[in-house]
Amino acid sequence: MGTSLFDLAGQVAVVTGSSRGIGLAAARALAGQGATVVLNGRRPEAVLPVRDALRADGLAVDVACFDVNDVPAATAALDELQARHGRIDIFFANAGINHRAPLLEFEQPVFEQVLFTNLTAQWAIARHAARHMVARGHGRILFTGSVTALRGRRNVTAYTAAKGALHALVRQWSAELADRGVTVNALAPGYIRTELTQALQDDAEFDAWLRAATPAGRWGTPQDLAAAVVFISSREAGFMTGQVLTVDGGLTAAL
Ligand code: NDP
Repeated sequence: MGTSLFDLAGQVAVVTGSSRGIGLAAARALAGQGATVVLNGRRPEAVLPVRDALRADGLAVDVACFDVNDVPAATAALDELQARHGRIDIFFANAGINHRAPLLEFEQPVFEQVLFTNLTAQWAIARHAARHMVARGHGRILFTGSVTALRGRRNVTAYTAAKGALHALVRQWSAELADRGVTVNALAPGYIRTELTQALQDDAEFDAWLRAATPAGRWGTPQDLAAAVVFISSREAGFMTGQVLTVDGGLTAAL
């Protein structure tokens, strides 16, 4: 009997922003493949019940609560995880925020905050994870990009700037890290039913537009991204780096 594909037994995966939404679905999927998964969010009261639910399902789960905007706290948490588990194999830089406002009214301080959370903090924390990976000669770094960086949409100027930069960064990081055993890729999800998109889900006009524009004819779910996260995180995907993988029901492929 051969070994199964995408087996993550013995590996440690850190997923930021995994108390709900895309991060939670990714964490559950990675743990389901045998990884020990470290959950993250800002609030222990949100993260700890999720940890307990996953443990009740027999999954190996640890917790590291930090705000990604506090980069020193986040990098210290990664050092603690490295010391506790002896390895960080997979780092999914997934925590993110959005602020919707028309371009001509978008406040610069808000632009800078969204850019910091979605880009600068991701860059700094994932880079720290990469240091631990390079030291062991193996790692998988995954950012959450967005289809908003692939097509122009209204009201998301800061979010788009940050996600577009992440798409560019994976190419640049791959050039520096591929020969160190570390792959760097991004997911570009389409519109996914989570708290982040609640206002859009409640907007009947947007809902109708999305269903019509998406060949699959529906919103995505966090679970729709889980298989892509497992694949990119696997040892078998070691020759894939510097890529942005779009998972959007065909939205950006359609005319
Ligand atoms: P949710 O709002 O459902 O979840 C966001 C998660 O991130 C929560 O666990 C939240 O926990 C955590 N989080 C938010 N801010 C911080 C912070 N400063 N520090 C640490 N954790 C934080 O969002 P989604 O699951 O939809 O989004 C996840 C990622 O996917 C984001 O990067 C988003 O931009 C991206 N994305 C989402 C799409 C969608 O349609 N939903 C489409 C394309 C990309 P808590 O608030 O408790 O801290």
